Amino acid sequence: ATPTALLVGTGRGAQLGILIKGPEVLESTRRIDTVVLDKTGTVTTGRMALTGLVTDDGVEEAEALRIAGALEHASEHPIAKAIAAAAIDRVGQLPAVTDFTNLEGLGVSGIVDQRAVLVGRPRLLTDHGHELPATLAQAIDAAQAAGKTAVVAGWDGVVRAVLIVADEVKPTSREAIAQLRALGLTPVLLTGDNETVARTVAADVGITAHAPGGEGAGQVIAEVLPADKVEVIKRLQADGKVVAMVGDGVNDAAALAQADLGLAMGTGTDAAIEASDLTLVRGDLRVAADAIRLSRRTLGTIK
Ligand code: ADP
Ligand code: MG
Repeated sequence: ATPTALLVGTGRGAQLGILIKGPEVLESTRRIDTVVLDKTGTVTTGRMALTGLVTDDGVEEAEALRIAGALEHASEHPIAKAIAAAAIDRVGQLPAVTDFTNLEGLGVSGIVDQRAVLVGRPRLLTDHGHELPATLAQAIDAAQAAGKTAVVAGWDGVVRAVLIVADEVKPTSREAIAQLRALGLTPVLLTGDNETVARTVAADVGITAHAPGGEGAGQVIAEVLPADKVEVIKRLQADGKVVAMVGDGVNDAAALAQADLGLAMGTGTDAAIEASDLTLVRGDLRVAADAIRLSRRTLGTIK
């Protein structure tokens, strides 16, 4: 490609709402065959809200929310912000927390009202030996089957409450994924969230295990810890894939840098934008397909 053609492509990108780090980026876009998509904030809006609360017998809803909200108030995670906001809404002032610890990609822990409290993914609590009452186990299953994230709160060795949080699939995601497929690319949903939730969201946007020419079960990769997202990209590359990654979070930055092409949501974190080759200014996933089309066209015209 001549430098002039690449510069023209870069200018056209800006018109489409794509910020390109350097003209050479368009070159690396050409061979992409796999597009890894982060779930929360990329395929979905990332604007989480508390949509349900189920407590164990003898535990007041307001009390569970007050305790979980106090702990989550100290965390920056979108799930934490949703729970803390709902708690403040419902009970007003939240109690003080000591010994707060952020368990990256798992949850949070700390002391609230002299109790050691754990809030996070269900497995975090059961791995820590918390008993899970049957009614709460059912509430978790039902939430996940509906594509919602179930967070649990527990103390004194028992899970006391299920907090159901959800955001929405962006209205543009389904069409974006159809466009990526039409370009011959295999979409892969990658998330730290639960497998059932991931599969429900994937099905919602047209990422299915049995798509024609698809790769079977490899298309949803769930329950991946933040530090392991980069390993997923490396594994795909070791399998001979040329990988684009689209993400928005701090926990996506290493994977975005590792990918052959990193695309950040302009609505995402600075860490994701800095680690990426391209930024989709409006956070519209359809523009990822535009970017790949643009680079193919720019490079195609000059050979
Ligand atoms: P994603 O890959 O979708 O951006 P994360 O890796 O940030 O998600 O988190 C993975 C999972 O860990 C969440 O779906 C949630 O179950 C749990 N989790 C992480 N942080 C928190 C928190 N502060 N409170 C409750 N649950 C959390
Ligand atoms: Mg995200």
